[in-house]
Amino acid sequence: MSQISTSRDEPVIQPLIGPSARHRTRKVLVAWGDQKVWIGGDAPVVVQSMTNTDTADAIATAIQVKELALAGSEIVRITVNTPEAAREVIAIREQLDRMGISVPLAGDFHYNGHKLLTQFPDCAQALSKYRINPGNMGGGKKRDDNFAQMIEVACRHQKPVRIGVNWGSLDHELLARMMDENVKLAQPRDGRAVMRDALVVSAISNAERAQELGLPGDAIILSCKVSHVQDLIAVYRDLAARCDYPLHLGLTEAGMGSKGIVASTAALSVLLQEGIGDTIRISLTPEPGGDRTREVIVAQEILQTMGLRAFTPMVVACPGCGRTSSTVFQELADRIQTYLREQMPLWKTQYPGVESMNVAVMGCVVNGPGESRHADIGISLPGTGEVPSAPVFVDGERTVTLKGDHIAEEFQKIVQDYVARRYGAHAR
Ligand code: SF4
Repeated sequence: MSQISTSRDEPVIQPLIGPSARHRTRKVLVAWGDQKVWIGGDAPVVVQSMTNTDTADAIATAIQVKELALAGSEIVRITVNTPEAAREVIAIREQLDRMGISVPLAGDFHYNGHKLLTQFPDCAQALSKYRINPGNMGGGKKRDDNFAQMIEVACRHQKPVRIGVNWGSLDHELLARMMDENVKLAQPRDGRAVMRDALVVSAISNAERAQELGLPGDAIILSCKVSHVQDLIAVYRDLAARCDYPLHLGLTEAGMGSKGIVASTAALSVLLQEGIGDTIRISLTPEPGGDRTREVIVAQEILQTMGLRAFTPMVVACPGCGRTSSTVFQELADRIQTYLREQMPLWKTQYPGVESMNVAVMGCVVNGPGESRHADIGISLPGTGEVPSAPVFVDGERTVTLKGDHIAEEFQKIVQDYVARRYGAHAR
């Protein structure tokens, strides 16, 4: 915060705008062929997702990975839980390569990862990153041996590892030890605080163990996922203060629909604003028949609305009110947002910079012209009782007025022409 003087001789606090400087972390490379995704350091915050198909069904999994990648997921994680799944990983990778989808695949391992990665070296090679959960590897010496075996495979194949600790599968031996130590303190801490501490200790101590076993420090990413917003914020603040490994953010079991989106957004926004987090995944429970790509879109929208990255032109639309008697503007806003998103796989190569474009679709004259003028391109639809015409604004200037039954089609064409004119090759 800085102070500025005023005419009333009183200092006024001028708030700082924008996120804090990014927490300094190492930079980890996750690659497949020519496709290189950097996590940490000065790299943009990476969007990840996870499939929910049976990995043993190679075709279904490859199709979903493709959908997630086309939606914008920069790394896609697949569960590798059985020998059948491990055997099919290579088929999934080959199928994706044939389809021209070079997104790196991360393998999610629990309980038997040491066996699967050792018994299926082609699987170990086809994956670009391994997620290891130290809480799901047995206990005592067996746990240490299994962990060492997985790290040895990662070193041999030169793959980075995410050490992913989870509230629901926290190393119970570590937790029991820390709880015992806590009760002996003169002023024992709250049990929940000890659990949060155990998550952080588990992640960092396992990362250090992996380094002792030969895995480079710049091949390790950490996560400590919990399902409550305040716990997640506290855990990641602590983690960021205590290490410089890149951090994978995500609220686990965030839930379904708006609850999952709101909880994830609330937690991640606080951390991202503080400069904490190098890659994010939004763990939404899809509604029956829902689209898995929703989690990618939500992740992108969090980053874009915070001004951290740009993925797709954003549509500003008013909520509507009693001044609109129809859903025309809602339908147009939805149609334009869907159209823009669908064009992006092509547009991002043809029209660099288009992802930062703003489009306004407004319901009536009250805020319509003003908001449309602020956007790169905007339309102000007629509200109830207004003249049935829709002025269009381009770069702040009113250009044409649309009327009749084909306003949506005509506006879409205007947007299309504007994109080609402003972001096309001749504009550069
Ligand atoms: S712009 Fe008009 S229709 Fe939209 S919320 Fe404001 S007053 Fe209502």
